[in-house]
Amino acid sequence: MREMGHTPMRDPYRFLAQTPVGNRVVKQLGLPNPPRLQRWTPGAPVVDGTVLLGSADGGRLAGPVAAQLRTLAVPVSQETEAAQRLRALVFDASGVTGPAGLVALQEFCTPRLRSLEPNARVVVLGTPPDACGSTPAAVAQRALEGFTRSLAKEIGHGGTVQLVYVGVGAEQAISSTLAFLLGPKSAYVSGQVVRVGAFGAPAGPAAVDLEQPLTGKVALVTGASRGIGEAIARVLSRDGATVVGVDVPSAAGDLETLMSELTGDAVAVDITTSDAPTRIADRLRHGHGGVDVVVHNAGITRDKKLANMQADGWTATVDVNLGAPLRITESLLEQHLLDADGRIIGVSSIAGIAGNAGQANYATSKAGVIGLVDALSGRLAPRRITVNAVAPGFIETPMTARMPMVIREVGRRMNSMGQGGLPVDVAETIAWFANPSSSAVSGNVVRVCGQSLLGA
Ligand code: NAD
Repeated sequence: MREMGHTPMRDPYRFLAQTPVGNRVVKQLGLPNPPRLQRWTPGAPVVDGTVLLGSADGGRLAGPVAAQLRTLAVPVSQETEAAQRLRALVFDASGVTGPAGLVALQEFCTPRLRSLEPNARVVVLGTPPDACGSTPAAVAQRALEGFTRSLAKEIGHGGTVQLVYVGVGAEQAISSTLAFLLGPKSAYVSGQVVRVGAFGAPAGPAAVDLEQPLTGKVALVTGASRGIGEAIARVLSRDGATVVGVDVPSAAGDLETLMSELTGDAVAVDITTSDAPTRIADRLRHGHGGVDVVVHNAGITRDKKLANMQADGWTATVDVNLGAPLRITESLLEQHLLDADGRIIGVSSIAGIAGNAGQANYATSKAGVIGLVDALSGRLAPRRITVNAVAPGFIETPMTARMPMVIREVGRRMNSMGQGGLPVDVAETIAWFANPSSSAVSGNVVRVCGQSLLGA
């Protein structure tokens, strides 16, 4: 198996900046100095180091957090010892009921930021503003977002900072989210706001195998033969799932090679053809008895300024990226091939959030993927199906390797990490959504963009 998460020499600047001589030159000239991002390898602990847990008075989350981190075998400390190095800070801000109370965040974080190791994690936990009992509390909880997004821009050294709004009643349903956000699997995710329990908190499974949480699950991945789709297939397979990969007939050779390596199943079909939903559904029904995780990854770009756009460039992009995922989803739902504890995961893009010149067709389709999350997450909550999406920023794939050099270099550096992400970073985020313990994680669009300046 090829090693996941490493793309030697795709970014020669970052490679040079990390050599001893290159690093000295970069520092002397004040050039961007992209940190080395730590990524997870099988057998490594969920969190490599100590988590310091703090709380504002009256918080409801610190107790459940400590208990859930213990089940993940994560070392938790509630007091800092002198000179102790910390991997992560977790602050329960759910007890903050007005603007004046926000100072608790500053008092907790400021003295500890210099004790953080490289690739540190900071997670602030709050109550969704719309679930607060008073206006000052709602305002203060909303204010947490400005704090986390700013600290994410300051922390440096490959560190990340996130805000998690935990719905009332979902306190016991945050273990998979803590594991993801506090560990190296979230290497390229920063400055994000995640909601847990937005539609209640269905009970998750009693115990999940931490190394192989998807054992016994079937995962459909479209566009699986290369790039991000290949990484998704590899990570879901690593986590125990049987992967059913879909790609266009012209990619059938690569798809079949990968699926046989992963002991999965290959379906060579163009997802935009009229019989694609039926062919996919039939394979899932007869070959696998249904599906548990559906990842709509296949996507294309046909970039042109709108003034020069041809109808086929528009139609193809919107149909591959949005029309086909919608038709396939509806078909699987109608036939109850995807049901209780199912996961639907879209692949959007920061272009779908920020817009992008020359990508009106693509950005329309990718904003539509966010619409799919908005429309389906509430509708499917009673069926215990979660719906989420990732919105990748600049990811090192054949797609971005084809960009003109200057645009590519700007895309790589315009984020808090000073580098592009890897396909595995998108795949790990999808694996967190897919995890059986993520049953209360629904309705989220999480950017995997190193906190890109675009659309921030
Ligand atoms: P890629 O071009 O390397 O891979 C896309 C895959 O989808 C290919 O295997 C392709 O054959 C398949 N595909 C295309 N049309 C299809 C169809 N009609 N039926 C079945 N399969 C089809 O692209 P990638 O960079 O790996 O992107 C994967 C996803 O991530 C896409 O949805 C893309 O829009 C999104 N994305 C990528 C980036 C990035 O920086 N690479 C950023 C944001 C979003």
